[in-house]
Amino acid sequence: MTQPAPADRPLSALVLFSGGQDSTTCLADALTRFERVETVGFDYGQRHRVELAQRGVVLQALRRRFAAWDARLGDDCVLDASVLGTVGDSALTREVAIQMQADGLPNTFVPARNLLFLTLAAALAYRRGLQVITVGVSQTDYSGYPDCRHDTMQAMQRALSLGIGQHVVIDTPLMWIDKAATWQLAHALGQRAEPVGGGDALLELIVEHTHTCYTGERSRRHDWGYGCGHCPACQLRADGWRRWRARKV
Ligand code: ZN
Repeated sequence: MTQPAPADRPLSALVLFSGGQDSTTCLADALTRFERVETVGFDYGQRHRVELAQRGVVLQALRRRFAAWDARLGDDCVLDASVLGTVGDSALTREVAIQMQADGLPNTFVPARNLLFLTLAAALAYRRGLQVITVGVSQTDYSGYPDCRHDTMQAMQRALSLGIGQHVVIDTPLMWIDKAATWQLAHALGQRAEPVGGGDALLELIVEHTHTCYTGERSRRHDWGYGCGHCPACQLRADGWRRWRARKV
């Protein structure tokens, strides 16, 4: 998963980058494996604009701290996907409390979000000549979101390849690992980039700058980062951090 790309392997990737823990880890993973990496984000009318603001902060911090990655990191763009806020009714795009719905999914689910994001990313990758699309979805910690499943990604890869007329590769480095292993992966990737202190530096960067909390809370700093500490996203992140620290000690 983190092997450098041999000559006959794809050399470039487009990373779906939200500024959260998972997509930042995916970006570090792509910067380890590919010669050229670009990033794309989406403005889908998310209630808490802090998520979009942190994207630039994380990218800058990565460039500053990891010279090898700075050399590989190319353009970033944010695409307008605000139509999701118009057609959907999610707690991420409307001022409503986070709760479970009758269909068993949390109301933080934005229907078809990843499907739209991947379609837009595939169109951008086509124009930019990027060979692989990397996305930080996980079936292990997926909160029941059907658009994070391996089968969904396989189906999207096939649909996009057929619809675009060339082979589209959707790369999902976090698909089978949980949040504790995601922290562990980030540490390993940082260490690999800079054997002296790089692992801890990448973890510190993720803790300090990435944003995952559904409520947009950034005034409270925990050992695992900023957030309300109570929403499902904070709970997953905090629990993963604790399990990774316990394993490490
Ligand atoms: Zn939270």
